[in-house]
Amino acid sequence: MKNLNLKSLYRQIEREYEELRRLNKRELEERKKIVYAQIPEIKEIDDLIKGIGLASAKEQIMNPSSDSLERANEGIVELRTKKEELLKNAGYERSFLDKLNSCEKCKDTGVQEDGRRCSCMENRLSRELYNVSNLSYTLQRENFNTFDLGIFSREIHKEEGISPRENMDMILKISREFIDTFKINNDMNLLFYGPTGQGKTFMINCIAKELLDKNVNVVYQTAFTLCEVMEDQKFRRNEINDIKYRQLFNADLLIVDDLGIEVTNSFTAAGIFNIINKRLLGGKKTVISTNLSPNELTKTYTDRVTSRVFQKFYPIKFFGEDLRLK
Ligand SMILES: [Zn+2]
Repeated sequence: MKNLNLKSLYRQIEREYEELRRLNKRELEERKKIVYAQIPEIKEIDDLIKGIGLASAKEQIMNPSSDSLERANEGIVELRTKKEELLKNAGYERSFLDKLNSCEKCKDTGVQEDGRRCSCMENRLSRELYNVSNLSYTLQRENFNTFDLGIFSREIHKEEGISPRENMDMILKISREFIDTFKINNDMNLLFYGPTGQGKTFMINCIAKELLDKNVNVVYQTAFTLCEVMEDQKFRRNEINDIKYRQLFNADLLIVDDLGIEVTNSFTAAGIFNIINKRLLGGKKTVISTNLSPNELTKTYTDRVTSRVFQKFYPIKFFGEDLRLK
């Protein structure tokens, strides 16, 4: 990934957009073919609209001061309304023959009208730069379908008062709710804590898989690799590192796995909390897993910002036997 060539990546993505536009165009042609055969009047209307457009464009060139454009538009609006009526009466969506775009914001170009890069393009870049395809192998094995509640003990845990299995059942429900309400701005951020080997990373993978399948832009990093991204952006600046860094703030979901004491050097700790804090302020969701308890976290990251940040997280405790032995 270090020697990834951004130019060729842009070219590749541009080709993907081209292909997308081509497929959508072809799909629209297919739709027209079917509808025209079924309702010839619609073909006549489309031909009329085309004719009016051409004629008015011609007249505008010959006589720029004429009101031909206005009159033409009125005519077209009327015809379009009639066409939509016909479509609706035949059981189609009114917009069935409109130009098809997979992304309405940028019309499948990757660039919005105001010249800014579209979020679908950022999403695409992010998937590549964070190498989501590498993650997908893990996610094939670790997801809700392969999750086995049966490996958790039914025995009541003395200190916790419930069994690890009951606890995990609750965690499953909360994780499901997190996924189902992901697009709603409800301040739901998750903090998974507890010793190693309790299924925290597995549960994080379940969430990542489910949301990636829904086309959510997920950036998954361990605290360690997150620090690398921050350092790269500071000490090895280039466009790739800049995009990756921006994604930490802009991704729909940021997952920080394995946040621990090792990240206490002040540059990285401040960096991580800056990212999480900005995401909270922007209503972007974050999931953190850590081996530290909330108490240890507050002790380790003492300043006011961090304690305020953690208050915005829903703490979920993992406990029980070490599952790695099972
Ligand atoms: Zn777009």
